[in-house]
Amino acid sequence: MSKKTQPINRRILLKLSGEALMGQADYGISADVVTRLAAEIRDLIDAGVQVALVVGGGNIFRGMGLAGHGMDRVTGDQMGMLATVINALGLQDAIENVGMTVRVMSAIRINQVCEDYIRRRAIRHLEKGRVVIFAAGTGNPFFTTDSAASLRAIEINADLMLKATKVDGIYSADPMRDASAKRYTHLTYDEVIDQRLAVMDTTAIVLCRDNGMPLRVFDINRSGDLRRIVDGADVGTLVDNNMTRNDG
Ligand code: UDP
Repeated sequence: MSKKTQPINRRILLKLSGEALMGQADYGISADVVTRLAAEIRDLIDAGVQVALVVGGGNIFRGMGLAGHGMDRVTGDQMGMLATVINALGLQDAIENVGMTVRVMSAIRINQVCEDYIRRRAIRHLEKGRVVIFAAGTGNPFFTTDSAASLRAIEINADLMLKATKVDGIYSADPMRDASAKRYTHLTYDEVIDQRLAVMDTTAIVLCRDNGMPLRVFDINRSGDLRRIVDGADVGTLVDNNMTRNDG
């Protein structure tokens, strides 16, 4: 019999950036990283947690970067959105390989490789214990996959949105460059916005704020943290509207 605690979260949305899938490489998808992630996600599914993912595409293309090299921004953003579909297919394969059922749902119609995003179908998949990967961001240029993650988390009534990063939470400054940077355990949405803390773009934070979607930022490279979070552990930084536990 398992000695593990019971999860307190019933349905989560996890945002994985393209960079999170890259591991130590400087392009593409690391097989080691997706295999480890798949095992961690299986642990959640086995515990009865419904898991939805939003995957980024920055490891392949970003519209803004392409526009910086002279490309039309909308075309660049469309390439970025298609890059997220490539990542989603890679992740789907890795998660299937550890024995789970997965559905990729795209915001851009590309239904010979994956399903179209239909909210009610997505919820049905989750209820059946399938991992759902939301691809192609919001389907619109000038948005990010962080905004897509906030949007989908709200749409599917997730009880927590998780943003995976390379550091263990939100810091007052970049901890890779500034040794005096302080990690917050809790912030309000407005503190994140007012202090311009580099965690997600303002659109993504405002969507969470206006719809009361709690957000936890954590380090994707720490094995087991995902499970600890859904079990209720205070890992990383929590962002919500509660000003009483404020340390910002
Ligand atoms: N993108 C977009 N609309 C969206 C989501 C993404 O146009 O709703 C494009 C945009 O060009 C973005 C790229 O897709 O740069 C990849 O997404 P993102 O940069 O958010 O990926 P991440 O940083 O999470 O890897």
